[in-house]
Amino acid sequence: EAAMMRAKAAGGGRFEFYTSGMSTLTRDWLALENRLRQALDAGEFVLHYQIQTDLRSGRPIGLEALLRWRQEDGELWAPARFLSITEETGLIVAVGNWVIREATQQLRRWIDAGVTPVPVSVNVSARQCMDSHLIDVIAGALKEANVPASLLKVEITESTAMADLDHLRQLLLQLRQLGVAIALDDFGTGFSSLAHLKRFPVDQIKIDPSFIADIHRDPNGAAIVRATIALAHGLGVPVVAEGVENEAQIRFLREHRCDIVQGYLYGRPGSPDAIREVLTSADVPPHYLHPESHS
Ligand code: C2E
Ligand code: MG
Ligand code: MG
Ligand code: MG
Repeated sequence: EAAMMRAKAAGGGRFEFYTSGMSTLTRDWLALENRLRQALDAGEFVLHYQIQTDLRSGRPIGLEALLRWRQEDGELWAPARFLSITEETGLIVAVGNWVIREATQQLRRWIDAGVTPVPVSVNVSARQCMDSHLIDVIAGALKEANVPASLLKVEITESTAMADLDHLRQLLLQLRQLGVAIALDDFGTGFSSLAHLKRFPVDQIKIDPSFIADIHRDPNGAAIVRATIALAHGLGVPVVAEGVENEAQIRFLREHRCDIVQGYLYGRPGSPDAIREVLTSADVPPHYLHPESHS
């Protein structure tokens, strides 16, 4: 019925539109939406995790949970292929709640397997933050998995922050009170990064890959990264450089005292088993881990 309504809206309310003249694009979209509605119950979502490395010590000090959708043929789809549909349909709330529970339960599984855990960051979107149950979902998930709140981080982006600012501020304060840290993701890509920094309690700033990509060649990009690191340190929070792919970038980031790096150079997102091996073998060479192949 939701699909009909959507098609109706797209077709300006003419029933004939979705019986005969419906575009291939619309039909694909509706098919995808229907499959997504069932994917959660069918257990088709999985989380992969990407290592965050302390630049000074070279040790893993965090993980980011990244959503994947397992297809029938075994292929894992990245969020770019389906996330916007879950956001438009509101499915993101249920999917996001699943992500939170799964990440906390995975922490519990690693702990039970004897692994010394590192904090896991989960991404939350605007729709999730506007859901009044989010704080209870997070508190409940931590309790059920018997995992300390200090092992969980929530990543918000500026588009998340674009929603109801007062509500979001309240939510972030509640998260803090719970002991859950907050990271500001994709920093610099939106319209009002600085305003958000002033307004929201933030424990970590993540520099978007678009600024990291050619820092060693582009003087403007380099200036922005330097300024962002200084800004973060001025605020007393560590900074994460995302999308680190080569040694030249590392040299620059080290020279300018970036705290944490995340990128293919240090490891692609990997399955819980692959991550367990990394966390248990203390001296993993940085280029070693490539569990997730190019797609
Ligand atoms: P993000 O939160 O900024 O996550 C980082 C993205 O950069 C991930 O893409 C990661 O695989 C990719 N990446 C990491 N290192 C490198 C690198 O060295 N080079 C390049 N080219 N890419 C790198 P992914 O997994 O495809 O996720 C894309 C976006 O989807 C995420 O961006 C996040 O905004 C969103 N997302 C992922 N999982 C979730 C989730 O569970 N819930 C919500 N609401 N959003 C999610
Ligand atoms: Mg993120
Ligand atoms: Mg990011
Ligand atoms: Mg992003």
